[in-house]
Amino acid sequence: MSMTSLAKSSPSGVPIIVAENVHKHFGSFHALRGVNMSVQPGEVVVIIGPSGSGKSTFIRTINRLEEHSQGTIIVDGIELKDGQNLDAIRREVGMVFQSFNLFPHLTVLENVSLAPTRVRKVPKAQAQQRGMELLARVGIEEQAHKYPAQLSGGQQQRVAIARALAMDPKVMLFDEPTSALDPEMIKEVLDVMKGLAESGMTMLVVTHEMGFAREVADRLVFFDEGNIVEDTTPDEFYNNPQHERAKQFLGKIL
Ligand code: ADP
Ligand code: MG
Repeated sequence: MSMTSLAKSSPSGVPIIVAENVHKHFGSFHALRGVNMSVQPGEVVVIIGPSGSGKSTFIRTINRLEEHSQGTIIVDGIELKDGQNLDAIRREVGMVFQSFNLFPHLTVLENVSLAPTRVRKVPKAQAQQRGMELLARVGIEEQAHKYPAQLSGGQQQRVAIARALAMDPKVMLFDEPTSALDPEMIKEVLDVMKGLAESGMTMLVVTHEMGFAREVADRLVFFDEGNIVEDTTPDEFYNNPQHERAKQFLGKIL
């Protein structure tokens, strides 16, 4: 039995993420319109949908990069509310962006060990040792002392994943992590994500990589105009999409 299925068959049944009736307004624009989602520990949820449908906005509310305007979000028992619990939530939830966002003036190892020393007050030597382990896990320990600009895009994104993991998050969010990469580098990043999923990590992944979704995702949710209009298995989605927008979308990307 894989760790993923172990995690999901946990008898508690307590979701690690609960979003209830989540709304987000940007001024007069209504970007999220009552989103409901519940994620079990160890689940991998792939989020797809047209550009502008609210995918990024939604996952950014899960680690408080955006504040929702209405509704309830609870992550690992911590309710995201007003200005409260921001540090706690940032420790629980790691995020990987399309554009890597590494610190250019720091080495790869410094990028990975900075937050644990600053935020968690881990001694530097210990943070660096753990950093090297994480770099090995994403397959780039030999690049530890280089600067981000000396690495390929795929390598930089793997550093960004290691950096997020250095805080020991319980949930990892990915927002189109391979969209900025040349085709030959996409697989090396998806392989790292797949390994993470197999290790039992709870993951929300916005991606158009359908092969990844079919192979790795437990659930696939389709966003349209600020809400989830399908929430199903990847196979069910491909073979039998219900919503007209989902059918159109599949027609474009497959
Ligand atoms: P997706 O990730 O699905 O492409 P987004 O969540 O980025 O969509 O955006 C959803 C909608 O919200 C878009 O119409 C976008 O223009 C709008 N939006 C996102 N962020 C902001 C912002 N900071 N200010 C104003 N509008 C925004
Ligand atoms: Mg987006």
